[in-house]
Order: sequence, then structure tokens, then C-alpha cells
Amino acid sequence: MSIPNDLASRAGELRDLLNKYNHLYYVTDEPEVTDSEYDRLFKELKQIESDNPALLTADSPTQRVGGKALDKFSQITHVLPMLSLDNVFDSAELEAFDQRVRDWLNTSDTQLYAAEPKLDGLAISLRYEQGVLVHAATRGDGAVGEDVTANVRTIGTIPLRLTGDNLPDVIEIRGEIFMPKAGFEALNVQQIAEQKKPFVNPRNAAAGALRQLDSKITASRPLEIYCYGLGEIQGMDKPTSHSQAMKQIAEWGCRISPELQVVKGVQGCLEYIKQIGERRESLDYDIDGVVLKVDNIVLQERLGFVSRAPRWAIAHKFPAQQEMTVVEDIVIQVGRTGALTPVARLQPVFVGGVTVSNATLHNQDEIERKDVRVGDTVIVRRAGDVIPEVVQVVLSKRPDNARAFVMPTQCPVCQSDVERVEGNAVARCSGGLYCPAQRKEAIKHFASRKGMDVDGLGDKLVEQLVDEGLINDPADLFQLTVEQLSNLERMGEKSAVNLVDALQVAKQTKFARFLYSLGIREAGEATTRSLANHFLTLSALKLADEESLIEIEDVGPIVAHHIVTFFQQEHNQEVIDRLLAAGINWPEEKKIAADSALSGKTIVLTGTLEKMSRSEAKEKLLALGAKVSGSVSKKTDFVVAGRDAGSKLTKAEKLEITVVDEATLIEWLA
Ligand code: NAD
Repeated sequence: MSIPNDLASRAGELRDLLNKYNHLYYVTDEPEVTDSEYDRLFKELKQIESDNPALLTADSPTQRVGGKALDKFSQITHVLPMLSLDNVFDSAELEAFDQRVRDWLNTSDTQLYAAEPKLDGLAISLRYEQGVLVHAATRGDGAVGEDVTANVRTIGTIPLRLTGDNLPDVIEIRGEIFMPKAGFEALNVQQIAEQKKPFVNPRNAAAGALRQLDSKITASRPLEIYCYGLGEIQGMDKPTSHSQAMKQIAEWGCRISPELQVVKGVQGCLEYIKQIGERRESLDYDIDGVVLKVDNIVLQERLGFVSRAPRWAIAHKFPAQQEMTVVEDIVIQVGRTGALTPVARLQPVFVGGVTVSNATLHNQDEIERKDVRVGDTVIVRRAGDVIPEVVQVVLSKRPDNARAFVMPTQCPVCQSDVERVEGNAVARCSGGLYCPAQRKEAIKHFASRKGMDVDGLGDKLVEQLVDEGLINDPADLFQLTVEQLSNLERMGEKSAVNLVDALQVAKQTKFARFLYSLGIREAGEATTRSLANHFLTLSALKLADEESLIEIEDVGPIVAHHIVTFFQQEHNQEVIDRLLAAGINWPEEKKIAADSALSGKTIVLTGTLEKMSRSEAKEKLLALGAKVSGSVSKKTDFVVAGRDAGSKLTKAEKLEITVVDEATLIEWLA
């Protein structure tokens, strides 16, 4: 059968593109397109090749692993090839994988799979002879890798010598070297400060850090490892299962994933994938999926390999957190404090599980640094609840007529002058509450969940109320009538009554919440809580000067200045008076005894609590004077571990931090 020309030329085009992207990704550590774009092209080529075997060439990227080892390192030939993994993207593809496994083994038995997160770093092979690390090599093209032994020796979590008796003569341990999210962010802050190019993602940062000619640079980068497999073995019986092998290497001192579990059949795999997916954001490191391996090693050997991947393992990929799209326009958003934020209007793109059509560009300096122009193709990132952002421009796709952005000198909403203080990245509208945009944001903040928590007063409704001229500031909210509200478009009588009731309920609040809702610049939850606890009354706080304010925990000179300025402004004073006159009140504050057992203690909540939400636990702990932090460090005093606690718990155990359960937490709160 003859193959249409266009199919043959598309296959050639895909091979060229994928080869180019492979080189940029594996060799220079500077990818130009997202992984999802790469995966789509790869899948397309695979499909063409499987439909038209005559188009399959030996040098096709679908037949090869990774990229060629760099010449600047000496090379190491792997005794057993280091392969890649095939991908699946949904449960149907996973079921097909499981079916292929059972068909190959000619069994209908439910298989046991070892499940681990798929870390987004780079593969490493560690060769130990008589327990001593003698070589470390990257995967390279699967057959030959780069000798990075000197660099690997600088990574604290990789043992230079295995511990224990009866160590094998030779054992090759394989794992993934990665950069934790926090280390990656700190490194990029430093790169920008030193006017160097920031890294696109932790994977590239890790690969770049490991493939340095100067080990001192590697040593200064926050690299870690989780081991996930074995290569060559001499002088020891082969382990019977993957999970047992992992247990063994952990006993020798290697770090394995605390998330490793053996699960039963497709159902077990899907439950594991769901569970890890839900925790993806809270893990300390980036993952791009879950790896599932037939646990039994005898069965693994029977299954063997295809060209570039084992038949006994599969990577179930999560929805991509980075995607490519086009910047259709760059517009300005005016925030609560007048900050002008340039926002890219994007061609809608599905990323991080939602459709994104806007991404923040932060400020003028950021736009210039990334050189984002209208018309550009860009990589957009969205992870968890974080606001989507433009990571980088795909320069090779820039059209000739791409238009650079210029920060306006006048506020696009109220035409007031735009000011930019020397040394400050943020440009601001000088209109204050004259500016409708700032007014809207101030009212949204006032009504928000952490503020006065007015049920049913969403952002859209606030905008509508300001646009209709019904409210100008937060105090006006309490004058709204059912009649006024029910005349609004899309608002029924019942919703109007509910909103008036909710405003009534919200009047009964707490001092700290009230302070937070006023929207004093840079005074967040922790600061307003400290202020409430310190001053106890509004009148005492209003009398405070900057010197006395900076004595208080969580209050620095800048926020102290903002607090004093806020209370000096007549307009603010007038709004506060009207709010109090409307009936806003709070129970009298009592000083938290400095000797309260939890006062000043730093506590981390992890896992699922059964009797209360994490937000409730956090609020109660804060009220007792404790600090609640999102990550475990040496400064943590206690970790409260609920059900399914993961990496934070492991870290706490490693740092020997006291871990308590939910029952103890409830006792404390009582
Ligand atoms: P892969 O990353 O999809 O899977 C194989 C690798 O997963 C292994 O080599 C190992 O390093 C790693 N891994 C992580 N956790 C593991 C665990 N628990 N057990 C076993 N292995 C684990 O395959 P690959 O061949 O390294 O790379 C292909 C992928 O890389 C593509 O799917 C694409 O996402 C990305 N890529 C992107 C570009 C680009 O330009 N953006 C270019 C090339 C490749």
C-alpha cells in the first residue's frame, strides 16, 4: 500500500521537531516548548508510525531515549541500558496497559503494582562497589551517560558509602535527582538579583546544576534524590520484588520515596493516582505523574522491554501545569492599593486543570525581563490556586508585528497620574478611593472570607453595586435595602433578603478580622492578629506611633508606616465611624498570656483532620498565639499529622520534630 506524501512529510517534520526539542531539553537544558506540546507531537508521530510501519525509521525519536551525552564530561557506558517510560494520560489507557501486562503473562490474576510519584528531575545511576560509591552517571541516550561523580558526591542525601552487613560486590542504584520547589524559587530569586537568566522549571534547574564542570556550583544548589530502581547486581541474590528491593536499599542508607505503596490492580492504581493528585500541590517537589511498576521481579523479567521503555512499567501523567498559547493583548488591572498590574489576555488554553485566558505579567520590569509582546507565543504556568503566569516567550514563534507594551502614565480607569517610586517595581494609580477600580477592590477585600466574610457578596456583585452607584465604600454596604438589591439585574428577592441578612450576621465579628478587612497596605492576617492582641482596642491602636508599632511581632517599618498613615487619613476615619455606627462590633479582646503553652510556637498542620477543617484548626491555634506555617523546618515546634500525612510528616521525623495527632490537638485547643 502506498503512503500518502503528506503523511510521510509530516512524519519527517515531526522527527525533526522532536529531535530539535530533545536537544534543547536534554543537552542544553533550555527547552523551548512545554512538555505537553512535546508529548502531543510524540504521540502523533507514534500513531503515524504504528499505522504505517514503513515510515518508522531506526533513528526516530520514538525509538530512542533522551539525548546524547555532553562531550565536556567523560562518558560512562551503562552495563544495563537506562530506559524511559511509556505514558498514559487517562484511566482507559491505564486499563489497556494492565490488560497488555496480563495478556503477555497469559494470566487473568489481578497484578500487584508498586506505585510512586513521578518526580520531575533527571535520572542518575549510582554504582557502589563493596558499598562505596565509585561512579555516578546521567542517563544520556540510555546507552552512554555523562560521568558526574564529582558533582553527585556533593549531594548530601546520596550516601558515599552504604551501611550494613552483607553488601553486594557491585550494586547499581538508580534514582531521580530533583530540586525541591522552595530551593528552586530561592535559586531563581538569586539568579534574577544577579541579572542571570532564571530557570524555567525545577527539572531544568536540577539538570543544569548537576551538569556543571565546577562541583562547587553543584554543591551550592539544593539538590535531593529519591532512588527508585536497581541496575547491575553482582554478589547478591536478585530481590524478589521492587518493593522489597526499595526496602533493602533504604536499609543501606539510600533515600526512597515515602509515598511508595504496593497497590492491587487497576483499581488500586487509580485510587493511588487520585490520592497523590490531590496532594500534588502540597508536596515539596514537582511531580508530573505517577509511575506504576509490576512489583514482582520475575514477572518484570518475563515482560522485558520494547525499544525505549520497559513493558512492566508505565507513567500515568497528570494534567500539564504548563501550556503554550498566544498573547492577544496586554491590559492593565488596578488593584486595591492602586497597583497597576499588566495582565496578558490569552487565547484560552487548558492548563493546570482549568481553562486560562488571563495571566499576570506582574509589573513593567518583569515584562521587560521576559520581553513579552502582544502577538507572542508564550508558555503559561498554572499550578494549584496560584495565579497563572507567563513563564517565557517562545522566541522562535514571534511574529514580525509583535507589539511591545508600554506602561500608561495615566490610570486607565480614573485617569489619575500613575506614580512609580524610585526603586519600587510597582506603578500605582494616585487616585486613591476616587478611583472606582480601587474602590471595588477595597470593598471586595472587606467582604472577603478572611475579612468580614459576607456570605453571598461575590466579586461580580460588588462590581455591579459600584457601577450602579449604590455603594462607594464598605460602610455603604450596610445601608443597602432589599428593594435596592432586588432591582438589580440577575438578583431575585430571595437573594436580596439573604444578602441583607448576611450583612447583618457579618456585623458580629472579631477585632483582628475587622482590622484585616480595612485593607491597610501590607497588613495581612498575621499582622492584624498581632495588632489586635497587642492593642486590644481600636482607640489604643489609633494612638500608636511608628516606633511603638515596630516593637510588635510581624510589624516591620514599612507596614508600621502604612498603619499610621491609614489612621491619619480623614476619609478612612469617617468610614470606620460609619461602620461602627452601622453596628459592627466584636467581643472584647483579651491579652493572650505569653505563657500560654502554644504562644509563640510554630506549628505545621498536615494530612486530613477528621473533626475540623485545617482552616478552623489554624484559626484556633492563631487565637492561642501560635504561628501556623505551611512548611516544616528546623524552626517548627510541632507537626500535627492527620490522616494520610505525607512528606511533611517524613521531614518532621527526619528533623526529630515532635509530631502529635488530632486528638492531642483537640486537647490543646480545649
Ligand atoms: P519520562 O520523563 O516521561 O519518564 C522516564 C523517566 O522518569 C525516567 O528516566 C526517570 O528519570 C523518571 N522517573 C521519575 N520518577 C520515577 C520513578 N518513581 N520510577 C521510575 N522512573 C522515574 O521520559 P523521558 O524519556 O525522561 O522524557 C520524556 C519526557 O520529557 C517527555 O514526555 C516530555 O514530557 C519531556 N520532554 C520535554 C521536552 C521539551 O522540549 N519540553 C523535550 C524532551 C522531553
